[in-house]
Order: sequence, then structure tokens, then C-alpha cells
Amino acid sequence: MTCYNLPTPISALLFDMDGTLYTHDEYLKSHIDGMIRRLGQVRGKSFETMRDAVEAYQDTWAREHGGRKCSLGNSLEAFGISVEESVRWREELIDPGAYIREDRELQKTLGILADTCALAVITNNPVLVAKKTLACLGVADYFPVIIGLDTCWVSKPHTAPFIKAAEMLSVPPAACVSIGDRYDIDLLLPLELGMGGILVSGVEDVYELPRLIHGDFSCNP
Ligand SMILES: [Mg+2]
Repeated sequence: MTCYNLPTPISALLFDMDGTLYTHDEYLKSHIDGMIRRLGQVRGKSFETMRDAVEAYQDTWAREHGGRKCSLGNSLEAFGISVEESVRWREELIDPGAYIREDRELQKTLGILADTCALAVITNNPVLVAKKTLACLGVADYFPVIIGLDTCWVSKPHTAPFIKAAEMLSVPPAACVSIGDRYDIDLLLPLELGMGGILVSGVEDVYELPRLIHGDFSCNP
């Protein structure tokens, strides 16, 4: 876990979903593979050919942007798939119930955090998928605000979802902390907006946040 520019006090925590509120590599891979398979069907290409093409695009994009990562959503747009179509595909293809189970440690963690902070989820999946995932984890009640791909109609990394979350929670950006597993996608732009950031390796790091937020734990880079 690495922390960046944490404010005092912290009034809101903006959580990424995938790889942050749960750790499940097989499920994550199923999202990506499912979307690429569908893109291949639309373009008349095999899964392997389409995957290689998307990865080549992402490698080129990274080289041209100082090594930063390009999200799948933004990669699909480069292949001519609109955000609206991407939302439909994701709603159809992604099935959290097949992979994600109740997480009592996460429930306990969020219960403690929610005592002092407002909580939001910001995800590049549609709100429907986010709601299903939170329900599977048993933590839906902790998140009054869910920002999905179909809220601002842009994929992270983009400032709009983070600004929208802060507005909906009625918390200034300088009192927000964005938490996620990918620096370029979840932290880079929030930090530019004046938010704090916490880079996690998975939900196991999220379990440590109450100790961090209550000041007896340091994770400065
Ligand atoms: Mg993530």
C-alpha cells in the first residue's frame, strides 16, 4: 500500500471496484476476455487475433504517453466501440454472482470507515454491474454513491467521475481520497484534482485502512 498527499481530515473515500474491493484474478480476466471476444465477433476476428490487436494498441498508447496505462474502455473506443455499446456488452457479459462471495472482513472494515467518512464507488463498469458486485460482497448499504461508466459516460482515467463523486457526496475534492489498484487509472488524475490517493494491491490492503485512517499506521512512499 502506498499513500499520496493524504488530507487531514479525510471526509470521503472514493473506491475503485475491481481489484480493490475484491481480489479475484480469474473474474477480472473473464471481464476482459469476454469484452475482447465480443469485439472479435463484431469485427469478424478470432479471440486471439483481437486480443493481440488490443494489446498492441495499448502498448503503443503507453509508449506515446510516458508509460501510462490505457483502460479497456478507452481501448475499445479506439476500436470503434461507443461507450453506450460498451455499457450494453458489460451488462450482458459480466456476471459477478458466478465469482464473488460475501466478504465479512470487508463488511467490518467499511463499517468502521463509514463512521467517519462518506464512501463512494467509482468503476469503469456500468452501475448495474457495480450494484450486483456490491450485493454479492454484502456491502451495498455502505455506498450511497456509485459512479459507473453510464453515470458520466467516460472511462477512468478521466476527471469527470471523480468530480461527480465529490459533488454527490457534498465533499470538496481536497478532503477526498481515491483508492485503487492502478495508479494511472485510479490515482493520477485525482491527485491532480487535489485529492489524496492510496494505491492498494487488493482488498487485503483495504482491510488495513481503518488503522491508517485513524493515524497509527504510515504508508508514505
Ligand atoms: Mg481496479
